[in-house]
Amino acid sequence: MEVNPLAVAQQQLDMAAEKLQLDPKIHAILREPMRVMEVNVPVKMDDGTVRVFKGYRSQHNDAIGPAKGGIRFHPDVTMDEVKALSMWMTFKCGVLGLPYGGGKGGVVVDPKTLSQAELERLSRAYIAAIAPIVGPEKDIPAPDVNTNSQIMAWMMDEFSKVKGGVTSPGVVTGKPIIVGGSLGRTEATGRGCAIIIREAAKRLGIKLQGATAAVQGFGNVGSATAQFLAQAGVKIIAVTKSDGGIVKHDGIDPDALLEFRKKTGNIKGFPGSSPISNAELLTLDCDILVLAALENQITKENAGQVRARLIAEGANGPTTPEADAILAQRGITLAPDILVNAGGVTVSYFEWVQNLMNYYWTAEEVNSRLERKMVEAFEAVYEMSQKYQVTLRMAAYMVSIARLAEAIKARGWV
Ligand code: NAD
Repeated sequence: MEVNPLAVAQQQLDMAAEKLQLDPKIHAILREPMRVMEVNVPVKMDDGTVRVFKGYRSQHNDAIGPAKGGIRFHPDVTMDEVKALSMWMTFKCGVLGLPYGGGKGGVVVDPKTLSQAELERLSRAYIAAIAPIVGPEKDIPAPDVNTNSQIMAWMMDEFSKVKGGVTSPGVVTGKPIIVGGSLGRTEATGRGCAIIIREAAKRLGIKLQGATAAVQGFGNVGSATAQFLAQAGVKIIAVTKSDGGIVKHDGIDPDALLEFRKKTGNIKGFPGSSPISNAELLTLDCDILVLAALENQITKENAGQVRARLIAEGANGPTTPEADAILAQRGITLAPDILVNAGGVTVSYFEWVQNLMNYYWTAEEVNSRLERKMVEAFEAVYEMSQKYQVTLRMAAYMVSIARLAEAIKARGWV
């Protein structure tokens, strides 16, 4: 049976609310997004026909600040999915202590079926349709599945036009540098992921120098995480992509692997390596397992065979709730997605701050601020997990929900 993502997000909230003995009035506010907009946008196709695309924007909660979250272009987008993703964004921003609530948007479309010109017209039409509810002080979208910096540039341009020529770089993040993007954004998620691994490893007594790691997914997040871990002395022994990957017990140099992939178009055949399947990577004997591909990878079927001591969720939702329970019971520490991969939204926050100031930081400034934010977030989550004797995932939800509850009370909503 298809799992309803909104039901899952609500269940996670319910569990954290119980542990925190959350005021039921606040709990009720947080169970649903505060605002959801559905739009149906007509777009002229290259052949002269018109297609009407359905899109959504959900704003979960703005007690702490404006909504923040990506826009995805995907044929499977539903209103409930967008609502759930906006709720997770509230929790992610809350863990990091960013002055944001959660938002998420989506358009039901397979962008592969569109020409570049059609994609541009759709991007412009969608942001114009949701313009009444977005803006630098209301809700700040960003890239997500199948959207990128070019699409953000079009959206920023269109929004600026809708607002009568008020240049509004702060309406979206993830823009190209030339129109207000931030240095350090591309590798921010991987950098944050490596910082959390370092902090968690410290608590577990794992020395990074000489520790072994397996990385599932070698895209933006996986490859940057592997590079930062290797720089810290971790031996990357296996890497996979969607069609499998490689294992090399004396260590893979991620920079050399990226070069190899650039030349050959694949990671398979990397000198000195042997092939490995995705299923094998997940149960490999190693200290650290990085999940940086997609959802539902560690399930009740394979959680019993995982041999890593520390799992880091670079991807969103790679571990099912049943698997979570099995891992916890086996004493395997799992650093959860809303903490581990929050480096991306943190540097998006820095991008927005720079846009509002119209003053731009160096890469070093961005990276050192990211380092500080990630370490503070880890410490808050770790402390909560110790205090209530709960997993890091539960603790991350609790940190976030406790902050939201405080803001809701301070504003006088309950
Ligand atoms: P990406 O498209 O750059 O990379 C995804 C990688 O996963 C690719 O190498 C792909 O081959 C691999 N992959 C796909 N299916 C796989 C499978 N079954 N087994 C192994 N590998 C597989 O995407 P990304 O930006 O690196 O995002 C990865 C995950 O991290 C997603 O869940 C995304 O939502 C999450 N995330 C990304 C960011 C960001 O800033 N990019 C921020 C937060 C969360």
